[in-house]
Amino acid sequence: MEVARFWRTNGQRYQLIGEECPNCGTKIFPPRDVCPECDKQAKMPFTFSGKGEVYSFSTIFSAPEGFEKYAPYTVALVRLAEGPLVTAQLTDVDAGSVQVGMPVEMVTRVLREDGERGMMVYGYKFRPGRSA
Ligand SMILES: [Zn+2]
Repeated sequence: MEVARFWRTNGQRYQLIGEECPNCGTKIFPPRDVCPECDKQAKMPFTFSGKGEVYSFSTIFSAPEGFEKYAPYTVALVRLAEGPLVTAQLTDVDAGSVQVGMPVEMVTRVLREDGERGMMVYGYKFRPGRSA
């Protein structure tokens, strides 16, 4: 399992980093430098736990160019344990068993391989996990 070994060694590099508002404590993702709750400047980095639950989801059967070999796949709106909603692909799960409220945790996976340059594009996905 070449891939699995790779993730174990490099997993720490791909954390879910957002921001925390120093004024009201709101956790912000994606980073936008302004608190959505109180409109104050918020540039304090905050590392999310990566745990959350499925808020809503849809399964993609017809993938955009470059993602064809991954279809069908499920894209979910995940509510993080700290509050923000993020959109991400689900992995390690059957499309038919995804449910609203299902606990999930972030993992880092290859999103796309760039054929011409041989580049790997990484990003975060979510897989079923323990309750946050
Ligand atoms: Zn705030």
